[in-house]
Amino acid sequence: MATYLHFAPAIALAVAAGVQRVGWRLTLAGACFAVLPDADFALVTLGLDRYNGPYGHRGFTHSIAFALALGAFGSLWAGPGWRRRLGAATFLALCTLSHPVLDGLLDRGICSAWLWPLDDARLCLDWRPVPMRGVPLFGMERFRQELLWIGLPLLLITNAVLLLRAGWHSVRSLRINGSTPCATQG
Ligand SMILES: [Zn+2]
Repeated sequence: MATYLHFAPAIALAVAAGVQRVGWRLTLAGACFAVLPDADFALVTLGLDRYNGPYGHRGFTHSIAFALALGAFGSLWAGPGWRRRLGAATFLALCTLSHPVLDGLLDRGICSAWLWPLDDARLCLDWRPVPMRGVPLFGMERFRQELLWIGLPLLLITNAVLLLRAGWHSVRSLRINGSTPCATQG
């Protein structure tokens, strides 16, 4: 598990999508949903399943189905209109799914039950570049590593998306402004 920055992809996604599409309430819900899968620790602590069981750590809460279900559930509060609800469901599902993706990128810990309930098997990503082996679960060293390997790439990707969007809007407004005289001449 990432200890500190599981919420960060939700913020990055909201910023990249734009405040007119994702408001602060939806952003907050997304940040909470991105952290929620690790609530599975409670099930293990309560003795409801073993650590690596389907309802244990990185079990069903780290699956694609759980992310889709949580997205659909959260969209019920998105307000009227199917477009609005579909957008909220997609955003919330992506935020939830970011959790097992981040877990999967770390080079330590058990793998996730991505395909539950179709398959309880734990599947690892082929690419696990974030070096967390030997780093304590809590503390400054962990925080520093997460900033470097999670926070910084998210910051760069988000800024790249914002730059691309700003460029696209500039090109579009140039086209619109450029076409106006022709339209008025005609
Ligand atoms: Zn996790």
